[in-house]
Amino acid sequence: MTIYLFILFAFVTASFSQENSNDKIMVKKVFDEVLTNGTSYELLEHLCKKIGHRLSGSENAEKAVFWTKKVMEDYGFDRVFLQEVMVPKWVRGDQEIVKIDGSNEMLSALAIGGSVGTEENGIKADVVMFHNITDLEKADKSDVEGKIVFINGAFNQTYIRTSQAYSETGRQRWQGASVAASLGAVGVIIRSLSSSLDDFPHTGSLGYDEKHKKIPAFALSTIASNKLATKIKMGTVKLFMKLNSKWYDDVKSYNVVGELKGSEKPDEIIVVGGHLDSWDVGEGAHDDGTGCMQSIDVLRTFKALNIKPKRTIRAVMFMNEENGLRGGLKYAELAKENKENHIAAIESDAGGFTPRGFSVDGAADKIEKMQKWVSLFDKNTISYIDAGYGGADISPLNKTQNTVCIGLNPDTQRYFTLHHTNNDVLEQVNKRELLLGTASMASLVYLLDQYGL
Ligand SMILES: [Zn+2]
Repeated sequence: MTIYLFILFAFVTASFSQENSNDKIMVKKVFDEVLTNGTSYELLEHLCKKIGHRLSGSENAEKAVFWTKKVMEDYGFDRVFLQEVMVPKWVRGDQEIVKIDGSNEMLSALAIGGSVGTEENGIKADVVMFHNITDLEKADKSDVEGKIVFINGAFNQTYIRTSQAYSETGRQRWQGASVAASLGAVGVIIRSLSSSLDDFPHTGSLGYDEKHKKIPAFALSTIASNKLATKIKMGTVKLFMKLNSKWYDDVKSYNVVGELKGSEKPDEIIVVGGHLDSWDVGEGAHDDGTGCMQSIDVLRTFKALNIKPKRTIRAVMFMNEENGLRGGLKYAELAKENKENHIAAIESDAGGFTPRGFSVDGAADKIEKMQKWVSLFDKNTISYIDAGYGGADISPLNKTQNTVCIGLNPDTQRYFTLHHTNNDVLEQVNKRELLLGTASMASLVYLLDQYGL
């Protein structure tokens, strides 16, 4: 090695470690600010207790739109604006009823979101049970026709990441009604997509295949599912089910966007977001009040630390993730129309629990670049940045302009006990866990802003 090369090498190494230690100081500053002054939890408290659950098209969803807009205006973000989007409107109606015919004991149930109602006086039919949707697909029409199908697929408990069990079992909720209807069933009930044994039923969305009759669909709590399965094993069981849900015309709603304008490269946009709508049960605390409030708090943190971003940073509250994704689609559509360049988008939509890492949907070289940042974090927060899923609302950006999409991955052990239930309430959120997620995202936004992708 010549002396010149040696000097050059020493210089590059020194400047790299200098850069690294400055970044480490900044990440620590961001965490300190969020852990002492972060507002994610207090904002969430307002959203949960003063507004409550907020299904697309509901009055509460509208309230949440105008409240988050005001919060971001009061924080003094450079620009706060709404993006109009038409959303579907489904109303559950009176409390649904599922019970074993001839008994007064109710089975703890929720209609699956989007389900058609039953006849006015309810329906009564024998039940036929399947262990999973694959077994149902293989069934003979003669065993199903005129009956209520019960799909009792349970989470695979051996997966460390519960989201893996959720996506594997998810098909029974999404497709169960159509598969059952294709075989002549009059209704469907599924075992809730849950990782625990309790009496909370979990709602969620379904997709009706237009080729088949739309039949009413319910989810039973895991305890009620076990009870029903035991009864069925003992002999024929007739069920009574009643639901008077209704579909209405689409209604006008909005994505809410807050922005800090970039000082050097304002045309390069970094998004951090969550979805503002929730199911019509509980308070939509973990799903996904936390992600929205964290995103607002990320921008607040930049202002509090007087960080002037080089690039434009946006907090986006997407509307209608739960039963349509219209907000996410509209955001990407407008981005294309306005020729906006989104270099990265981060979504927090897996609960406000202790962060573990980020998963990235993007090119390998970009993921590699980001992986060098893992060492800047305390390993009890972000311990990995891996290739993987970004998030539902930001995924259209990936399709339309190849935006690198990043998902915040918190600890998943408790999420699917609460998800889409009456138990998804503020009391299930731990303030410090929530703030660690906020700080992790704010730090990542800082690094993305500093170095681009
Ligand atoms: Zn969600």
